[in-house]
Amino acid sequence: MNTKTNILKGIAAAPGIAIAEAFLYKKEKEEISSDVISDVDDALVNLDNALAQSKKELRKIFSLAVDKLGEKRAAIFEAQIMILDDPVLISSIKDRISSEKRLPEYIVEDEISKYTSIMSLSHEVYMKERSHDIEDIKNRIIKNLKKKKWTSKISDDVIVVTSNISPSDTVLFSRVNVKGYVTDFGGLTSHAAIVARSLNIPAVVGLHDATNKINERDKIIIDGFHGLVIINPDNEQLQEYHERIKRLSKYDEELYKIRELPALTTDGKEIEMLANLDVSDEMSFIIHNCAKGIGLVRTEQLFEEYEEFPDEERQYEVYSKIAEQVYPGIVTIRAFDIGGDKVLPVDLHEPNPMLGWRGIRLLLDNPHLFKTQIRAVLRASTHKNVKFMLPMIASLNEVQDSKKLIDECKKELHQENKRYDKNISLGIMIEVPSAALMIKEFSEEIDFLSIGTNDLIQYMLAVDRGNDIVSKQYQEFHPSVVRTIQYIISEGKKYNTNVSMCGEMAADPFAVPLLLGLGLETLSVSASAIPSLKKIIRSLNYADLIKLAEDCLKLKTEYEINKSIHEFFNNKIQDQIKNLY
Ligand code: PEP
Ligand code: MG
Repeated sequence: MNTKTNILKGIAAAPGIAIAEAFLYKKEKEEISSDVISDVDDALVNLDNALAQSKKELRKIFSLAVDKLGEKRAAIFEAQIMILDDPVLISSIKDRISSEKRLPEYIVEDEISKYTSIMSLSHEVYMKERSHDIEDIKNRIIKNLKKKKWTSKISDDVIVVTSNISPSDTVLFSRVNVKGYVTDFGGLTSHAAIVARSLNIPAVVGLHDATNKINERDKIIIDGFHGLVIINPDNEQLQEYHERIKRLSKYDEELYKIRELPALTTDGKEIEMLANLDVSDEMSFIIHNCAKGIGLVRTEQLFEEYEEFPDEERQYEVYSKIAEQVYPGIVTIRAFDIGGDKVLPVDLHEPNPMLGWRGIRLLLDNPHLFKTQIRAVLRASTHKNVKFMLPMIASLNEVQDSKKLIDECKKELHQENKRYDKNISLGIMIEVPSAALMIKEFSEEIDFLSIGTNDLIQYMLAVDRGNDIVSKQYQEFHPSVVRTIQYIISEGKKYNTNVSMCGEMAADPFAVPLLLGLGLETLSVSASAIPSLKKIIRSLNYADLIKLAEDCLKLKTEYEINKSIHEFFNNKIQDQIKNLY
């Protein structure tokens, strides 16, 4: 079947099968139409809204930038805000909309481009740079003008085909019952892929030229298990996939039956299955799939859901609602991991954001923002089922500085007569290689560790997790990765610190036997992955897993480890499960 020419091969980013019409979402460089409009008032309201939204976004950037980057660099954003307030520019745009009766995006593009083209011709570097800033603001306004249109245009039950997709797009699309995602760019652990998995929507990413090969309204099949996209399938292909969908739903029924049973190996080793929470829509999945608790709440998602940095009250409401819903289960709330690939609607123009101002670095540089979150988490901890976790920890002093802020918040709350759990557990993500080598020292400071393989692999192997061009080099079974995971787990045991894993590797059915064999006892994965992993674990023998891990630790290449793991999967896993992968 794979020899047919209507099949594209990409990266299997979220499992599942979907058959539907394609919706081509062109985000970058949208064509600006000069269409005549009939309702000038409506266009002017649209423009005002887009300007207000752009201003809001820029204020958010400015408040972040001013603390860290100083007045000089932050001034760029302030200047952009000033442009949005420039009465001459705004009134000439408005006048032209009224007199020419053309779409606001066309007029905005035309008016602002007049400035940028003159400036970009300048020989002065300063002027050239300013022209980029103005280009930026133009795109921001146009994006905000377009967004409004786009949400009403997309129809239900389509497969979105696009060059690249941001986590916020994924969330937005999910509201109109999108059946699947196909993208030209992106890797397995890009945030869009993670969100697609959380929402249980099949996705194939990194296809390079899907947007050229697929036309609007083409019928397509996405096979999110094997990373295949079939364009205008023939009858044979359709029949095969309809049958697979039937098998899949039968399998789902079986999974439903075991959902309340423990993740117990055939020889009695129980594994704790927790859920990752990315978007609040997922809570029903988590409860439905009987997770024992939540091993990771990606709180940065709140920025996608709310317009501004949510204040303490808003955060308190969100966290305490989650804590109540999973009670008596535990919820692990991670401090905002902003930056890297999880950029807000902000662009700080960092040359290398993955190695830049991200996670704990940004939080410690913005103590006000950080303390607002700490206070909200502490206040949500009154039922003693909340843990707090720090992202992107590389050095001990980052933990010590965070603890000082936590202590300050505790004191403040005490003085204000506000209740909180005095013994709230504090943990860190192990996702930077430097931290992986210092488990002993970290264990003296904190209560638990959670391995973030998405970043750990990226930083160990120097491979951008979201870049499909190097996705071949992103090897979770690289011997150094496997040995580092083993080291973290055994050091954690030695120093009595709980170790879990919340990176995507924990949800990979091929990786799970090895991870358990390495001694991992807690997995935190997308809620939708829990039932099938439970089914796999319930068919495994723990003694076999220990042997598998011992063998893999001796191997020298990712190729050998991969082979050994696949052989294990073929020999030890039941046919019914195997056939799905
Ligand atoms: C990780 O890095 O593995 C992780 C769980 O965090 P995130 O994917 O949010 O960076
Ligand atoms: Mg991470």
